[in-house]
Amino acid sequence: MTQFPQKDLFHIPDGLIYLDGNSLGPIPKAVPAATQKMLTDEWGELLIRGWNKAGWMNQPTKLGDQIAPIIGVVAGSVAVGDTLSVKVFQALAAALQLNPDRRKILSDNGNFPTDLYMAEGLIRTIGKDHKLITVDPTDVINSIDDDTAVVMLTQVDYRTGRLHDTKTITAAAHAAGAIMIWDLAHTAGAMPIDLAGAEFAVGCTYKYLNAGPGAPAFIYVRPDLIETIQPALSGWLGHDAPFEFEQSYRPGHAIERMRVGTPPVIQMASLQVALDIWKDLDLNDLRAASIKLSERFIAGIEATCPDLTLASPRDPNARGSQVSFAFDQGYAAMQAVIDHGVIGDFRAPNIMRFGFTPLYLDESDIDAAVGIIASVMTQKLYTDAKYQTRSRVT
Ligand SMILES: *Cc1c(COP(=O)(O)O)cnc(C)c1O
Repeated sequence: MTQFPQKDLFHIPDGLIYLDGNSLGPIPKAVPAATQKMLTDEWGELLIRGWNKAGWMNQPTKLGDQIAPIIGVVAGSVAVGDTLSVKVFQALAAALQLNPDRRKILSDNGNFPTDLYMAEGLIRTIGKDHKLITVDPTDVINSIDDDTAVVMLTQVDYRTGRLHDTKTITAAAHAAGAIMIWDLAHTAGAMPIDLAGAEFAVGCTYKYLNAGPGAPAFIYVRPDLIETIQPALSGWLGHDAPFEFEQSYRPGHAIERMRVGTPPVIQMASLQVALDIWKDLDLNDLRAASIKLSERFIAGIEATCPDLTLASPRDPNARGSQVSFAFDQGYAAMQAVIDHGVIGDFRAPNIMRFGFTPLYLDESDIDAAVGIIASVMTQKLYTDAKYQTRSRVT
């Protein structure tokens, strides 16, 4: 059984309680030295020889093999690179190719905007009258019909934390002849995942996987399909033989073809170290510990902060690793909470969001956070003018 927390593995600034690992994970303590070593020994000494001698060129699939067990898939089916927005575009373009006679892309109105924006851009680019339909999360299954080419969902709603059941939705999509894409942005590294035969999955590595701001995203393609996919983003590093410099694109072998261009080597060094943490970690134990923390948090807040309304599902099995509360002055309240040493974040229009990561949080952190939030709320500290101005990133 994996024991939590594992605070020694992470740097958290003194006096801070970090409840925002669902947005940007904290830095693993091993990252600075590993990154420094990469910079001096590899980039510094090897220069361009690093692509071969330090294995930079193989990193995107090697790291993919380390992500594979975390998302419950086989090695060889995951590649890292680019940002999640780009990986959403790639997966959706490939999915539409696999279902060429249908026009509907089905998602829900709790999906993260960039996923929907990328779908809109792809639809315009293809120019074949595809339609993006977004419905309430509870209406997804009933909205799958015989014109649905793709069901594209994020497993956990970034605002409320509501968790979709991958098994029933994937089965319903497949029963109707639709392709299934899961965005695991808020699930990879938060809980065990069962893709239930879905064709595609994508996700990022800077949230629960703690690889740092700007760390590359990942894409999974079901192995039996990969050889049939003609990548829409046909970049040279997804070519079968990039260094033959042929005039025309030929897709590379297996998941290599989902690569696009030069990978972010410096960020991959931190991702490598961050993924080492997951080697012997039991995801079921992690999930159980996360539920304990979030249940304790909800009970504490509801006992002390009558102005905050739970906006997440009350059933812990129906939510991800975050808990959200609705409050009209949520932005100012969150600024005040942050100013008093508890970091969460705010999502418009009125959501105060807190993430629970048993890797570096324990019950005493939860109790202390509840105490601080309660004092901000009961003393109405959020009414101070200095908490009212919105920053660019909320
Ligand atoms: C965090 C997140 C993103 C972020 O996309 P980037 O391209 O990495 O900026 C996209 N989709 C979902 C569902 C997310 O939660």
